[in-house]
Amino acid sequence: MEYYSEEISSLIDELGRLPGIGAKSAQRIAFHILHMPKEEAKRLAHTITEAREKVHYCRECFTLTDSDLCPICSNPRRDHKKIMVVENTQDLAAYEKTGKYDGVYHVLHGAISPMQGIGPDDIKLKELMARISKEDVSEVIIATNSSLEGETTAMYISKLIKPAGIKTTRIASGVPVGGDLENIDEMTLLRALEGRTEI
Ligand code: ZN
Repeated sequence: MEYYSEEISSLIDELGRLPGIGAKSAQRIAFHILHMPKEEAKRLAHTITEAREKVHYCRECFTLTDSDLCPICSNPRRDHKKIMVVENTQDLAAYEKTGKYDGVYHVLHGAISPMQGIGPDDIKLKELMARISKEDVSEVIIATNSSLEGETTAMYISKLIKPAGIKTTRIASGVPVGGDLENIDEMTLLRALEGRTEI
């Protein structure tokens, strides 16, 4: 991109690395930023730096949060014996939006995918097992996506947990195949949760 100066090129370059941002979008956003009032651009940069600096995993459920324990784990009114396993923080948020789930969560940060070389050790599975072994757990609800990776992960988890004699359930398959949980409406999620079956 020698027709742009170095600073402009590198801004386009960095933006183009973001997921879902193609070359055209990267240019459009770059020039939008360059036309912003300087204060506004500073605020954007500051927000990104602060979020990245302060956000980390919850000590208990591994969701992304800015405190040691996330608001759900530190809420005594939640049923801490019921753990819903989700793939990411956005999925957790989708279930929270239904306002009908009173248990806690465990966020895996991914799903097992032999095709992409993602194995059980690459997601927060050991952490889930550690939790289950030291806490009094009555039910583990596996709410991974209904994609191939999500199903593989669900099977793997149920095989790990079953020997411990803990009730393990899988959300109903009302969730469209391969659909990201975060893009599904609340009613569908509620039906999937209420229709969960033991596996
Ligand atoms: Zn938490």
